[in-house]
Amino acid sequence: MNHYKITLLKGDGIGPEIVNQAVKVLDKTAEKFDFTVSYDEALLGGCAIDATGVPLPEETVAKCKASDSVLLGAVGGPKWDNQPGNNRPEAGLLGIRGALGLFANLRPSVIFGPLKSASPIKDDIIGDNMDIMIVRELTGGIYFGERGRREVDGQPAAWDTEQYTVAEVERIARVAFDLAMKRGKRVTSVDKANVLESSRLWRETVIRVAQDYPEVTLNHMYVDNCAMQLVRNPKQFDVIVTSNIFGDILSDEASMIAGSIGMLASASLSGGKLGLYEPIHGSAPDIAGQNIANPLATILSVAMMLRYSLDQQEAAEAIEAAVAKVLETYRTPDIYEEGMKKVGCDEMGDLVCAQL
Ligand code: NAD
Repeated sequence: MNHYKITLLKGDGIGPEIVNQAVKVLDKTAEKFDFTVSYDEALLGGCAIDATGVPLPEETVAKCKASDSVLLGAVGGPKWDNQPGNNRPEAGLLGIRGALGLFANLRPSVIFGPLKSASPIKDDIIGDNMDIMIVRELTGGIYFGERGRREVDGQPAAWDTEQYTVAEVERIARVAFDLAMKRGKRVTSVDKANVLESSRLWRETVIRVAQDYPEVTLNHMYVDNCAMQLVRNPKQFDVIVTSNIFGDILSDEASMIAGSIGMLASASLSGGKLGLYEPIHGSAPDIAGQNIANPLATILSVAMMLRYSLDQQEAAEAIEAAVAKVLETYRTPDIYEEGMKKVGCDEMGDLVCAQL
């Protein structure tokens, strides 16, 4: 029987509540699909600052590295807002991504049928099966490039650098093409090759990688056009692959198309089996401890973990189907609609388990 060791980084705010529900669902799934799971908890973010003085203790990195996969709730909150930048809870997030070599960020943007009305986009534009996967390069580009201040024409000025190596582009492109092979076999590579040299290298490299995937259709799109196409005709996309900064912006746009922030999962991958899975939302300090947070983004992050790190495709699909079924009748307050039954965080976790 397969056994998996999962490190839980519950974090701050609603983090512990939502991770507890996801653990409940993972345990139920394990029972049903004949595998076992053991958990180890570690500190990240504000709770780590309180306990150890730093947002990412070394012990946390060691525990994550020794596990098959990592599930994260969320970090941060007003209590730690006056910490210096390099000791804020969010610095722990960047730190753990770097320490685990997580260079690929996957954000699916999927609309569950019963939640169609939560999307700000018209029904006929979304259609019935919008399912976009944005693959964002996570450890390179302008967020990590050289930067500084200098004087230009007697004026104070600031500069940042966008740089990608061929190897960095190749590995993220492979993640995108491998994913496309398991989905709709279409990749859109997003760049700004009409202006940026780094984008021209990006495009050349993606074209070269594509030769290893003859079954996948590749097209290229400038980032400004992509931003427009996402709201004009989102159904045209299967997998989008793009740089760190473009992916940051486009993935937030795509998540709005899907509607509620409480529904969206993400994965960060290292190329090996180890991945970090988390909801895209933050620690929602405004609703923490009230048992009203929506745990579904975290539960769906567990489904991604089963699919991308643990090779349990069927179990992943079962969770997604259970979530879709539960949404036909039950809603947490953030996605509540007239005629539905309103439930809390805990109860939502129980309902998904019961559906499984
Ligand atoms: P947020 O995502 O925490 O909350 C935005 C709004 O969405 C709030 O009204 C919140 O109540 C609601 N919301 C979020 N998740 C929800 C859920 N699961 N169910 C129901 N409602 C939900 O963003 P914010 O308010 O900008 O940030 C709060 C804190 O979280 C800050 O300290 C921020 O730095 C941190 N943050 C952490 C992460 C992360 O851990 N990955 C990401 C974003 C923000």
